Amino acid sequence: MTSKRTLIKNGCVLTLDKSVGNFHQADVLIDGTKISAVGPNLSAADADAEAIDASNMIVMPGFVDTHRHVWEGILRNIGTDFPLEGDAGYLNVVLNKLAPAYRPEDAYVGNLVGLYGAIDAGITTILDWSHIQATREHTDAVIKALQESGMRAVFAYGYPWWKSPDEHQEDWVREIARECFSSRDQLLTFALAALGPEFTSFEATKRQWELARELDARITVHVGVGSAGKAGKLGEMGKAGLLKNDTTYVHCTTLSDDEIKMIVDTGGTVSLSSTAEMTMGYGMPPIQRFLNHGLRPSLSVDAETNMPNDMFTQMRSLNSLQHALIFDRKLAGKRNLPPFMNSRDVIECATIEGARATGLAHKTGTLTPGKEADLIMLRTDRPNILPVNDPISAVVWGMDTSNVDSVFVAGNALKRNGKLLNVDLDHLRRRAYESRDYVIARSGFMLPEI
Ligand SMILES: [Zn+2]
Repeated sequence: MTSKRTLIKNGCVLTLDKSVGNFHQADVLIDGTKISAVGPNLSAADADAEAIDASNMIVMPGFVDTHRHVWEGILRNIGTDFPLEGDAGYLNVVLNKLAPAYRPEDAYVGNLVGLYGAIDAGITTILDWSHIQATREHTDAVIKALQESGMRAVFAYGYPWWKSPDEHQEDWVREIARECFSSRDQLLTFALAALGPEFTSFEATKRQWELARELDARITVHVGVGSAGKAGKLGEMGKAGLLKNDTTYVHCTTLSDDEIKMIVDTGGTVSLSSTAEMTMGYGMPPIQRFLNHGLRPSLSVDAETNMPNDMFTQMRSLNSLQHALIFDRKLAGKRNLPPFMNSRDVIECATIEGARATGLAHKTGTLTPGKEADLIMLRTDRPNILPVNDPISAVVWGMDTSNVDSVFVAGNALKRNGKLLNVDLDHLRRRAYESRDYVIARSGFMLPEI
């Protein structure tokens, strides 16, 4: 049996792979789940191939969000004025009061709205940093939502933050890894969202990291977070030889220079959520500190309680900040300043660096023949963007989610002609409000007055 073929014709194609190049006009041939060719004037060679006209589109790799607490989808914008720390802060209100009120079905619905929002915004791969695993049923519910969404996703299993781990927690992790993730050749892969050494003891952190390595799972961990990040805890982990290239470090805002260097030297990857970091008091996003060592970060939304759900915001936020930091030094009379990030650097942070940070660079992040067909089509005929004079800058600075026309994951269309496929939005909306109402009532949290 031959696989389904799709020929995307006459788009402005940004492969973001230097060996393939970018094209003002070219075609992309999808064969089954994979990209089989990119270039001008391709033909599908068989009459059954579906042809898609992309003449008013930019065709590029889908965005990769490397750290999002997707279960918080039903709590969107609930805490935009919360800082991270303090009694009325995110850690206390969202993680200690609202999270414990979640039933498995609330985690399912929170995940679904988060995931469909991500697809709608052109994100094809997401790392679900899922610290809502109060019971085994919560885990099943979250995995079900990830599977239903059709996205490429890393399910990063996180212990609940509001209580001590269940006595069965480690057994659950082993069981899930075995039952749901025995193959790596699937859309959903496994990681451990480990409690960082700033949030628990050295021994407990070490134990979680060893569990991840026993299961051959990648690790994602929050470090350098606000005041807790200043205590040198990551350095202790480094001195104990626990930092390796299987780990993605999230935020890193208040780490010491030595700790930043340890991450780079051990081959770690980084996820920055610069909007959350700047707005909520994590500390100064360490973009320049990593660039000085030659490491570019991946980007992430973090929490929809506070932040918008798209990568356009993240790209612009990071680029603006990096420029501001350098210009500030220039205006202060400093010399020998580092180079500015340009649009190409930033779009790569939102795509291929994300693929690297999730261990998926062999599958996604560029439109390279042989990789999986995870791509998006962005409309260039809308009034917010025409005429397109520089396609990469147009994506980074000019576009927003209204330009996202089509989204494909592994060759499968999840959004076409500006509309999500495979989802009953009326039903989803009803479920989202039901779950939201239940969680709010049970937690005792009061929604803000308007
Ligand atoms: Zn986070």
